Formats: sequence, C-alpha cells, structure tokens
Amino acid sequence: CFCTANTIEEPSTPPIQVEHTQLLINGQFVDAASGRTFPTLDPSKEEVIAHVSEGDAEDINRAVSAARKAFDEGPWPRMTAYERAKIMYRFADLLEKYNDEIAALESLDSGKPYEQAAKVEIPTVTRLFRYYAGWADKIHGLTVPADGPHHVQTLHEPIGVAGQIIPWNFPLLMYAWKVGPALACGNAVVLKTAEQTPLSALYASKLFHEAGLPPGVLNVVSGFGPTAGAALASHMDVDKLAFTGSTGTGKVVLELASKSNLKKVTLELGGKSPFIVCEDADIDSAVELAHFALFFNQGQCCCAGSRTFVHERIYDEFVEKAKARALRRVVGDPFEKGVEQGPQIDADQFVKILNYIRSGTENGATLETGGERLGSKGYFIRPTVFSNVEDNMLIATDEIFGPVQSILKFKDINEVIRRSNKSRFGLAAGVFTNNLETANTLMRALRVGTVWINCFDVFDAAIPFGGYKMSGNGREKGIYSLDNYLQVKAVVSPLKNA
Ligand code: ADP
Repeated sequence: CFCTANTIEEPSTPPIQVEHTQLLINGQFVDAASGRTFPTLDPSKEEVIAHVSEGDAEDINRAVSAARKAFDEGPWPRMTAYERAKIMYRFADLLEKYNDEIAALESLDSGKPYEQAAKVEIPTVTRLFRYYAGWADKIHGLTVPADGPHHVQTLHEPIGVAGQIIPWNFPLLMYAWKVGPALACGNAVVLKTAEQTPLSALYASKLFHEAGLPPGVLNVVSGFGPTAGAALASHMDVDKLAFTGSTGTGKVVLELASKSNLKKVTLELGGKSPFIVCEDADIDSAVELAHFALFFNQGQCCCAGSRTFVHERIYDEFVEKAKARALRRVVGDPFEKGVEQGPQIDADQFVKILNYIRSGTENGATLETGGERLGSKGYFIRPTVFSNVEDNMLIATDEIFGPVQSILKFKDINEVIRRSNKSRFGLAAGVFTNNLETANTLMRALRVGTVWINCFDVFDAAIPFGGYKMSGNGREKGIYSLDNYLQVKAVVSPLKNA
C-alpha cells in the first residue's frame, strides 16, 4: 500500500469552501497582473469549481523578485536551522488539523477518491514536512584531509531561488516532495501548480504562512505551462528548477533552462513500469497487487505497473482473475464511501486514454473487459484489461496514464529482463515471487530507479524516488533530495599566517 505512519481512522467529508483562488506572492494573495482568471473543474461533474487567477510571465517575475529578496535579504537562509525546522513542524501540525478539509479540496479538484486523499495522501504530505523539518538542522559539510599545509572544509549552502513545476496527479504530495527539501535547506521557492489542480497548494501555503513562514520564501503561481511554466523555466534569476510531468514537457523545460542561465535541473518524468509475476507466485495475491499497481489513482501514476508480465504457466488463470478483479472495481463519485476509482483528470486525458484503448484493439490485443466510458457525465472510464499484448504495441510502449492494464506473457527470466529493459523509460518495477534467487537476480538486472518486491507504491518519506533513462534525473525524497537544493563550497586556508 501507499504506506504511512500517520493514518487517520474514519474520515467524514467536511463541507468544502474554496477560500483561496488568487496568486500567493510575497506572503499576500493577489490578482494576476493581467487580471485574468481561468476555471478549475470538478472532473466528476464537468462543472466549474472556482475561477482562479491566471499567472503569466509578469506574475512569475513578481514572484521571483519576492523570492530573490527573501533569499538575499530576508531572514530565512540566515535564521538558525532549528528556527526553520520549528516553522515547518508548526506547518505540519496545521496540515494535520485541517487534514479533512484539504483532502476534500484535493478530491474535488482532482477526482481522486476522498478516502484515499484523507487517509493516505494528506497524512503522507504531513509526514514529509516533518521528515524534512528534521533534516533542517542536520545539514553540514566536511573537514577534508587535503595534501599540503591547508585547512580545508566544505560548506553546504542553499542554491538560492528554486523554481518548481508540478503535475496534477498528486497535487499536494508533489508540492511536499518539492517544497519540503527546498525550504529545509534554506532556499526560497516559486512554485507553479498544474492548471487542472491549483486549489490545495494555495490552501496549504496559507497555513504555512500562519505557521510563521516569512513573506517571499514560498510563492505559488497558478497558470498554464507554455506561459507561467515556461517563464519560470527560462527565468534568469531562478537558480534551480525541479520539474515533475511528462517526458515531452521535461525536454522542453530542460532546453529552456539551458538556453537561459543553465540553472540546475532535476526531472521526474514518465514511466512504463514492468510488474513481473513469476511462476512460483500465489496467483490471487499477485492479481490483487498487479491490479493495485496499475489502477491506483485512476491509473494516473508515473510509476504505474503498466506492463504486467506474467509467466506462461500461470498466464491464463491470471488473466481470468485480473479481468474478474477489474470488473469488481468500484468506480463512481469520489466522495462516496468504498469508491476505488474516480474520473480521469480532464477531457484531454480522457480522449487520449480512449484512443490508446482503440489502438490496443486495432493492433490485435484481446480486450478482456472495459474499454469504454462509464456514464455520460464526468471523465469516467471502465477499468480495462488487455491480454495477448505484444511488446511493440503502443499500449505496451507508451505511458497511457489511465485505467488500462496490459498483460504480456513471458517464458523465462532472462527474456523478461531483456523485455523489461527495452523501454526508453526506467522509473520503477514490481517483482512478485517467493524465490529469493529470482528476486535478487531481477532487482539487480532491472534498469529502474525503484524495485518493489512483493509490494508496490510504498512511498515513505525516507525512500528516494526517481528515474533511470528517460524517466528523469535526480532523486526526490529521503536524504538524496537534499542534494537537489544544496551546493557545496570548498573553503581553503593556510594553517599559518604568511
Ligand atoms: P500533462 O500533459 O500530463 O498535463 P505536463 O508535463 O504537460 O503533463 O504538465 C506538468 C506540468 O508542466 C504542469 O504544471 C504544466 O502546466 C507544466 N507545463 C506544461 N507545458 C510546459 C512548458 N512548455 N513549460 C513549462 N511548464 C510546462
């Protein structure tokens, strides 16, 4: 499961009030310079929730100036690390206090089941801020034993102004992965949320200021990618860029970053993760875990186990049971108890997924179940299972980002290693086996950033996450994410006066 130490027992949905729709710049909620707004939609009803200020290049300029001032002149990088940690801990306490309100907002804006947001995601966000608050006063350099009569030390310093661009699939969790380590290390931040899901970051950032965050340290700009996002990626006064999103957009922002000021870039991009079910597996457990690995969060996970490789000896039984499990999946109103799957995020994704499903059928895969829209309102798609999927079909090579399970057959372990690694992506993999030797062979051979053995989507704050190959570079979470937001200064001095 998406494990957390901090599970809230029985959520009851609080009434939803959208309090904050403006941009958050220099500690103040303000309109966009242009005065423009855009609607954010409830994907289960296709109705407008609120009109949100639409930031563009001018607002990014304002936000970067505020962050620059907070970094260069403000108290944040200069206050003791313990003071910074205390503000982050106070923020975490407020996140906990308003857990259900934030979860409701997140669910409304993104379509994810409320129970998932309230019991798992928002508590995980809180845990992440506590984890990085704990790091704030444990960051230090080394004394280096260099040759010669010199005292040599390293200082680990914040980079400066961090620009952060996040996606819509886990809006507040992605905010936490980015903002937590950046602020623990003493940076100032300008964050651009995804245009589909601007609300939870504004709500949470208001709480952060209530917890004592100085103005300008964290600025949140809602807006679109080609305008606000591109302005941030190409800004000359942004020192570091962290991006999570599609591989195509990752290439764009990397180019913008290098063409402007060569700001340091970390990227967390797409995936096509294999989930390998070995012949010794308990089939029922394997079916359940493979189902979770793919369908969790409406299939909208960069690390989704979207190539289910099953050993030929158990293939037919697995396919039957995977189909039965998909048919049992509860799809519906995200606020209804027991609902496992809500709508896809928006019309674009909905159409894209249905096109992939069509390509699967046209390319000769067997559609076992699903394959179509559910209902007539909202972006709901029936849980879909394909069998007899071949490696070169689009549904086996491309990131679908939807509730579509592709089941492939394999004969032996070397073959499945080769086929798993053939992807241009390398984000994650799942391995399901009771054989220690098989597990050890696969975990070493798979060219991916995370291998989950007999589990999937375990996202503890301390576990690093990131991609091999075209799934990105850099690691988020854990101790590794500190490297993204620190730079090392070597200080050398003679041992004696001249
Ligand atoms: P998707 O296609 O699933 O929406 P994207 O990778 O395009 O995924 O979006 C992830 C984030 O990147 C969003 O915040 C989006 O606004 C932003 N984005 C999209 N295009 C650009 C761009 N050209 N420059 C900077 N950011 C962008």
